[in-house]
Amino acid sequence: MPGHEPEGVHMAWQPGVLQMQLETFLAKNERRLIALRRDLHMHPELGFDEHRTTQSIGDQLRAAGLRPVALPKGTGLMCDIGSGEGRTIALRADIDALPLVDEKDVPYHSTVAGVCHACGHDVHTAMLVGVGLFLAQQAADGLLPGRVRLIFQPAEEVPGGALDVMAAGGIAGVDRIFALHCDPRIEVGKLGLRAGPITAACDKVYVNVTGPGGHTARPHLTADLVYALAKIVTELPAALSRRVDPRSSLSLVWGRVSAGSVANAIPDDGVAEGTVRCLDDEAWHAAPELMHSLLDSVAGAYDVKADLEYVRGVPPTVNEAASVQMFRTAADAVLGENAVVPTQQSLGGEDFGWYLESIPGALARLGVAEPGQAGDYDLHRGTFDVDERCIAVGVSVLASTALTALREGLADGPVDGPVDGPAVRWDGNRPDPEAVEGAALA
Ligand SMILES: [Zn+2]
Ligand SMILES: [Zn+2]
Repeated sequence: MPGHEPEGVHMAWQPGVLQMQLETFLAKNERRLIALRRDLHMHPELGFDEHRTTQSIGDQLRAAGLRPVALPKGTGLMCDIGSGEGRTIALRADIDALPLVDEKDVPYHSTVAGVCHACGHDVHTAMLVGVGLFLAQQAADGLLPGRVRLIFQPAEEVPGGALDVMAAGGIAGVDRIFALHCDPRIEVGKLGLRAGPITAACDKVYVNVTGPGGHTARPHLTADLVYALAKIVTELPAALSRRVDPRSSLSLVWGRVSAGSVANAIPDDGVAEGTVRCLDDEAWHAAPELMHSLLDSVAGAYDVKADLEYVRGVPPTVNEAASVQMFRTAADAVLGENAVVPTQQSLGGEDFGWYLESIPGALARLGVAEPGQAGDYDLHRGTFDVDERCIAVGVSVLASTALTALREGLADGPVDGPVDGPAVRWDGNRPDPEAVEGAALA
């Protein structure tokens, strides 16, 4: 029954009440969540192999009276909290580790050779377990105005675990989805927000060029393949930049070009390999076909045969402005008014983008650097670690965001109704990039 507020919900939303409830919860549970994070850190598991991690998450949730359901491949879980009334908000944590050596000298050092939680997914997991325990308590007290779905997603780094969650019905009936990702360039206690694209698509392209070779004295009797390959390497990126909206930031950059073996022989094959990065979902979808047709026309002019293998990565993560505003409202309520900081878009990839192609939502950057230590330090390094106070911050922000999104659902009425805020209205497809840009955080 949309619009109905369970008793007590209103009181719980008086300023400071949620913050107090979270403080009480964290005073009791923060150490336990840090211990969980360290346990996961000591036992990292690669994508689709997260069996121990899945067991551990399930045990914690079941002990709180929740009923998590494992995903079909056996790793990763989903868990609904609260009644079916009102909206359904999903919170996602990725749970997999990386094939990297743990280079840290800490008591919770990885016990698995060559595998390490160097992207902070152990932290994401512990935080979401904490949110589950807190919201289970809220639901029991009649303080949850809707349903929250916890998604513990496997194989983000593979990538593609998001697709498995979606195939298992993970976002069916979900109105909005939120996630946090550790960011060592932001201090603990801060939250980095950005409306619009926050991570990029990254695909790989492999071009194989063939044609009759021969003596460099008689290029006219050959396809002069090296010359043709050089033309492809320079003209393809140039033509692309004229055929797509520059705001999509679609770029093709070559990483390897190779042909021939001696100065006076024209080879009969050559290769060029590179990556395509893109910030716009529509341009990303159009990229392979456009690349094929441009390659055909450039190669055709030099009478060589060019084959393109286009390998898809993840789509860009395009944050919906209204969801970003919910993060901001939530962070203001539990962290204070100066906690939100702007964050840059990254050209890295994140498979959360798959969800946002179907439903609105946002990914935010959780500050994990010790105060005074935030710099150009990055994820995916064997020395990556966090200031563990970020776990309590993340629990507070995620729980508050879910409640904010549920509350706004009550205010808005039906789930497909308009969304408040300096936001674009969700059109069931994706945000209008111009409107998102206009609403972008400073
Ligand atoms: Zn990563
Ligand atoms: Zn990650």
